[in-house]
Amino acid sequence: MGKNRPYNFYAGPAVMPYEVFKKAQDELLNFAGTGLSVMETSHRSKEFDEVITQAEEKARKIMNISDDYHILFMHGGASMQFAMIPMNFLSGGKADYVNTGAWAGKAIKEAELFGEVHIAGSSEDKDFTYIPENPDISGDAKYLHITSNETINGIQWQEFPDTGDIPLIADMSSDIMSRKIDVNNFSLIYAGAQKNIGISGVGFVIIHKNLAEKADQSLTTMLKYKTHIEKKSLFNTPSTIGIYVINLVMSWILDQGGIEKVEQNNIEKAQILYDCIDSTDFFYGLVEKKDRSKMNVVFRIKNNDLEEKFIGESKANGLIGLKGHRSLGGLRASIYNAMPTEGVKALVEFMKEFEKKNG
Ligand code: PMP
Repeated sequence: MGKNRPYNFYAGPAVMPYEVFKKAQDELLNFAGTGLSVMETSHRSKEFDEVITQAEEKARKIMNISDDYHILFMHGGASMQFAMIPMNFLSGGKADYVNTGAWAGKAIKEAELFGEVHIAGSSEDKDFTYIPENPDISGDAKYLHITSNETINGIQWQEFPDTGDIPLIADMSSDIMSRKIDVNNFSLIYAGAQKNIGISGVGFVIIHKNLAEKADQSLTTMLKYKTHIEKKSLFNTPSTIGIYVINLVMSWILDQGGIEKVEQNNIEKAQILYDCIDSTDFFYGLVEKKDRSKMNVVFRIKNNDLEEKFIGESKANGLIGLKGHRSLGGLRASIYNAMPTEGVKALVEFMKEFEKKNG
């Protein structure tokens, strides 16, 4: 990031593009020439309407999302979707879930409240260090749910399963817009915005019109997809600042050269970091190489006792947020879209130096 700011490796909320901050700062007190801040502007104003319309249009462009899909900006982050999906689509039936770790587990727990859950694949046998292949899809499943990137365990689906007529639903919270995917293979994609596309407070949802039609209409108003589809995410007051920031991040992605360029950068960054981990016995990775996440790089120091020191010294060197998730320990570097290559290089330099002193 330069500009005298530390490099931010937090898993989420996470690093934001510097250009987005600058633009938000410039407009903070006078948004769209109104003389008002976006924070004090009505969500029904024509200026805000422009923001939400543009955010949607740019998202469609970036991910190549057709008109067969609705795009929603919702409350409750990704966790609300864990519940809304089975509430709207399960109604006592059966759903397939692939259990790849902590986040998939949370989605499963909610689904179990609303119907039968069939575990179509699991990597629990090896502490969620790989993505199980060929999910066992039930013919009568209402949908198959996967977690495209497990933020805590550091594993990522490289190719998505072919589910035929069964709707495929994916939690893409930690890798949305980080790589090119074919949206047409999915019936619903959702993500908390606070990693790759904005700040916390917005759940971003892409839902196919055919699936939306099947949703349970007897639910409470706020928890029905229909409500938010019909009101274009403005049934109640949305997180206006959150949607405003998403719009800025969408512009930033397009300015980078779109998803292809962003993906290319992400591949390069992950390679640099994994190469460093693999080049020595001092550090080691925890997951199967083929399933390694390009967003959340989970690793350890062979002498685990040195990890506290690593975290402290890296912080003192301007590298923030490298502590692993509290449930797993160890180290984790989250290198989302907005992490510049220089940030990863600075981390690798620090790792080499640390090894020299402590190896
Ligand atoms: N799914 C994944 C893969 C996540 O990483 C997270 C948050 N870290 C969530 C869901 C939950 O997101 P939220 O906090 O927005 O509910």
